Amino acid sequence: MRLRIAVDGPAGSGKSTISKIIAEKLNLIYIDTGAMYRACAYISVKYNKTGKDLIECVENTEIYFKKDVTGQRVFIKFDGETFDITEEIRSVAVTKKVSETSKIKEIRDIITRRQKSIAADNNVIMDGRDIGTVVIPDAEYKFFLEATPYERARRRYEEMVARGENIEFEEVLKDVKKRDFEDMNREIAPLKRAEDALLIDTTNKTIEDVVSFILNRVKGL
Ligand code: C5P
Repeated sequence: MRLRIAVDGPAGSGKSTISKIIAEKLNLIYIDTGAMYRACAYISVKYNKTGKDLIECVENTEIYFKKDVTGQRVFIKFDGETFDITEEIRSVAVTKKVSETSKIKEIRDIITRRQKSIAADNNVIMDGRDIGTVVIPDAEYKFFLEATPYERARRRYEEMVARGENIEFEEVLKDVKKRDFEDMNREIAPLKRAEDALLIDTTNKTIEDVVSFILNRVKGL
């Protein structure tokens, strides 16, 4: 049976936490598409690449996921060398850069093509901004998660503090709002709810609430 679940929404809406749990429960491959765009931003920041150079570099870089005891890890491979960039892609510098690189048409074409090919061959849960609208428009299930900007910034801030980042809450809130604006207003594949996606406001819901809501829908319970 074919099962592809699209989960979209803005930064901090709970997409990745929830998608990971659903993936385990339903034995689906989990693809964090934000991590793929973050990997592109990382390449730009780390190797100081922009424009054509960046596009060429992304085209020649494999971005892949692998599970270990710490969870799902993100790797890039180019010129025969492999790097684990799981932590680096969550840094403040990469987070600030990501909306800028993810709006480049050629970058989106490369990344979208790879995502479509994974979804064509596997039962998946993918989270991102354009999964239900562009990557898997014919997904069996589509959800769009939302929460207030303050609540989303609070979740991101707590994650960052737990990782040892030295950051002010106000800065995280500002970044969340800026990314919302840029992701919603870009020309190609902007963040928006697919018409047939079910909207879930996660502001006052626990992770368990949202997970069971989605599982009930998918299993038809
Ligand atoms: O989900 P996350 O916050 O890690 O995503 C980082 C950034 O990647 C987003 O702010 C957005 O610019 C970009 N992105 C995207 N399309 C997706 C997933 C993420 O443009 N499907």
